[in-house]
Amino acid sequence: MSVSADHWIGGERVASPQRFTDLSPIDEQPIAEISRGGAREAAQAVAAARKAFPAWARTSKEERARLLHAIADGVDKRADELANVETRDNGALLRSHLRGVMPRVAHNFRFFADWLLGLGHDDFETRGHTNHVSWDPAGVCALITPWNAPLMLATWKIAPALAAGNTVVLKPAEWSPLTASILADITAEAGLPDGVFNVVQGFGAEAGAALVDNPDISRISFTGSVPTARLIGAAAARHLTPVSLELGGKSPLLVMRDADLDLAVDLAVEQYDNAGQVCLACTRLLVAEEVAGEFTERLVERIKALRQGDPRDLATDIGPQIHRKQFDKIDGFVQRAVAEGARAVAGGGPNAELGGLYYRPTLFTEPSKELLREEVFGPVLTLQTFSSEEQAVAMANDTSYGLDALVVTTSEERARRLTPQLVAGTVWVNCFFVRDLRAPFGGSRDSGIGREGGNWSFDFYCDVKNTVSAPWVR
Ligand code: ADP
Repeated sequence: MSVSADHWIGGERVASPQRFTDLSPIDEQPIAEISRGGAREAAQAVAAARKAFPAWARTSKEERARLLHAIADGVDKRADELANVETRDNGALLRSHLRGVMPRVAHNFRFFADWLLGLGHDDFETRGHTNHVSWDPAGVCALITPWNAPLMLATWKIAPALAAGNTVVLKPAEWSPLTASILADITAEAGLPDGVFNVVQGFGAEAGAALVDNPDISRISFTGSVPTARLIGAAAARHLTPVSLELGGKSPLLVMRDADLDLAVDLAVEQYDNAGQVCLACTRLLVAEEVAGEFTERLVERIKALRQGDPRDLATDIGPQIHRKQFDKIDGFVQRAVAEGARAVAGGGPNAELGGLYYRPTLFTEPSKELLREEVFGPVLTLQTFSSEEQAVAMANDTSYGLDALVVTTSEERARRLTPQLVAGTVWVNCFFVRDLRAPFGGSRDSGIGREGGNWSFDFYCDVKNTVSAPWVR
């Protein structure tokens, strides 16, 4: 693999004296020795981004859009390599990387390039005075991203930040650092000026913490866990830096008594995608008691038929968990639930024949309190029944999170009645994971602060300005 293991700062590779080992979840073997950045590298990257900012902010939006399209072309050209490296690095399915993820990565750049060109300006008039509203670039953006969908989530932030005329310092997750490094090469090949995009590798508590505590940062966008979000929020508060937080979930999937059960089972099985390491996963299945027996039986059959194995095999449905720590955390949740009397009707433990990090897709009926409350971030679903719509809504909202909710029903009227009552940034009705990038994305309650997507992204990554002009008199 010819991926640089060093930082990308000011258009150059920068190495740190200390390194950390990047392991592949497929076999827990080392794949790279990555430069371990800290305060020094974070400061260096912010300085480079700051230096590059004035010229990039002045670059015409047509030229910025052209460069973003050139980056997208570079992603398309190297999509196979990116997909293979990402699978080796984070263990997610090669099939998904090839078919869904890498095309979406390129699309993130194209979408925000085109959005920039189409961005209108509001003008208001009061007593002959015009109020001209403009979207000014904010400055240097610190982007902190997780390991479950590394390049997809990073580019979802990088593309609007750059489109808006900002410069960027990205700190990818230490468990999946590689594709960000390839992206740095792609941006250089595309002709992005030095310092406009920078990557600092390293641990969250070192490189990440130093980055978000830098007073020259104008925006922080973070996707990750709630405890880390609280630390980042505290750093942002010290400098009054606007922050966008996209966090976890414990989302409900409601199967109403009139649901199409084939569809309901398909949608429930999708919640095991990426071995359950998806913030949007609707892991609490809430099923009308009239259909619960049949639904459970069919679902268990489907879970047992899932093909678990090497994520590079295109026939595999479910691969390994990302890391030993995450694997042990998941197993801890499962073992404590079993000890409390929860019943696993599918899975319930490791699939050790395949390797160290493969966990069987698991379904609990009569789940423990902890399982219902805490985000597992693994292939573990719970199933509970309800006897009325009112109870379904109460159970759905009985969580500290509010990222998304999924309703399966054949009644449009029921859907219209239910969806406004659900606390969630996204409500899916008879579908999952299909979203227009013009629409807002984000969470309520502990699932986050702010929304990104379309104008919501520009709102966040720009300083919105109102220029009021008196009438011009000759
Ligand atoms: P997880 O626990 O699932 O790994 P985290 O929220 O800890 O999720 O990690 C998401 C991203 O946040 C990673 O890039 C990680 O390095 C980074 N991170 C972790 N701790 C901090 C911190 N204190 N400050 C800034 N970034 C951090």
